[in-house]
Amino acid sequence: MESPKTLLEAIQYFSDEQVCIDAVAMMRWPQGVRCGYCDADKPYYLETQKRWKCRSCRKQFSIKVNSIFEDSPISLKKWLPALWLLVNCKNGVSSYEIARDLGVTQKSAWFMLQRLRLALRARDLASRWAAAKAEQLR
Ligand SMILES: [Zn+2]
Repeated sequence: MESPKTLLEAIQYFSDEQVCIDAVAMMRWPQGVRCGYCDADKPYYLETQKRWKCRSCRKQFSIKVNSIFEDSPISLKKWLPALWLLVNCKNGVSSYEIARDLGVTQKSAWFMLQRLRLALRARDLASRWAAAKAEQLR
């Protein structure tokens, strides 16, 4: 996947819902999609509904299930450029900038930033933990 270089490119890139779903799926399940409820692997993808159906528990789930995006009416088309901004702006990004650049309210932008920061911190911790584990095993 070619990463967008500018915010404009990021917004254009993530204007396709399927691209967003694929990008989030790669982040969430780098080894392949797993059921959001029972963690079984290789669910069926229901192309028209953009949801998966689990082979094991038979439940259907979207990319948002059990994620930081759950319970949010904000579309992934806005979440992903916000994530892009957060990761790429070395001097930090404010909720005012996100609100202005992505056309969401400042309150929504603040909420998005909170969740994205938490998720990034959790990911950092997880990778540091994995690195420490690998170190111990050596
Ligand atoms: Zn399941």
